[in-house]
Amino acid sequence: MIQYRNYVMCFYNIHTHFTVSEPNIHEIVNCIIEKQKYPSLDALLFYSVGIHPWYIYNIEEQIHTLKSIVARPNVLAIGEIGLDKLSNVPFDIQQAVFKESAQVAEKERKPLIIHCVKAWAEIVGFKKQIKPAVPWIIHGFRGNSELAKQLLDQGLYLSFGEQFQTKALQKTWDNSHLFAETDDKKTDIRAVYHHIATTLAIPLEELTIQIEKNTKALFPSLLARH
Ligand SMILES: [Zn+2]
Repeated sequence: MIQYRNYVMCFYNIHTHFTVSEPNIHEIVNCIIEKQKYPSLDALLFYSVGIHPWYIYNIEEQIHTLKSIVARPNVLAIGEIGLDKLSNVPFDIQQAVFKESAQVAEKERKPLIIHCVKAWAEIVGFKKQIKPAVPWIIHGFRGNSELAKQLLDQGLYLSFGEQFQTKALQKTWDNSHLFAETDDKKTDIRAVYHHIATTLAIPLEELTIQIEKNTKALFPSLLARH
C-alpha cells in the first residue's frame, strides 16, 4: 500500500477482461454478450455488459439479453459496444446495435464504454444525434492529439492502456477527461498508471487523485467498497 500524506492510493481499471482481487485495485470487468450463452455475473464484481462489434449474431436475441441484465446494480456501464470498420459484421448492422445499445444506456442512466476502429466520424455523428445524458468513454484510445481534441470537444472521455500517443495523452490530461485500463492484456493496472504519470511527468499521486475524481463522478459504486 502506498501512502501519500493521509491518502491511500487506489487504482481504477475501467476496462479489463480479467479480474484481479487486490484490495486497492477496483475494476470494471468486461462481459461480452454472445450467442446462446447467458452471461453469468459474479455478485461481488462490477461489470460492463455489451454487444461487441465483432460478435453480432442475432440482434434481437442479444439486445434482449442485454436488457435482461443491464439493470443489475453491479452492472456499471454498457460496453464494450462500438463500431469497427475491420469487423466482418456489416457496418449497418453494427450501427443499428450501437444505436440501440446507446438508447438502453440512456434509459438505464449508465455510461457507455466504446470500442472504435476507423469509425470516428460515425461515433461523433451518433453523439450529436443522440445527445446522450450519460457519459461516453472511448476505451483503449491510441489516436493522435487532433483526434483526441475532436473527441474531447464533444465531451467524450478517453481511456488509456499500455500503448498511446504522448500528445493525445497530454491533451486528455489537460482536459481531465482521462481514465486508465488494461483491456485484454495481462498487464498490472499500476504499471499503466506509472507509464501514464511518467509520460506526463507528474507525480503518480496527482494521476490517481484525478482518476479517482473521474471515477467518483461516473461510477460512484466502484468507490463505495473501500
Ligand atoms: Zn476490451
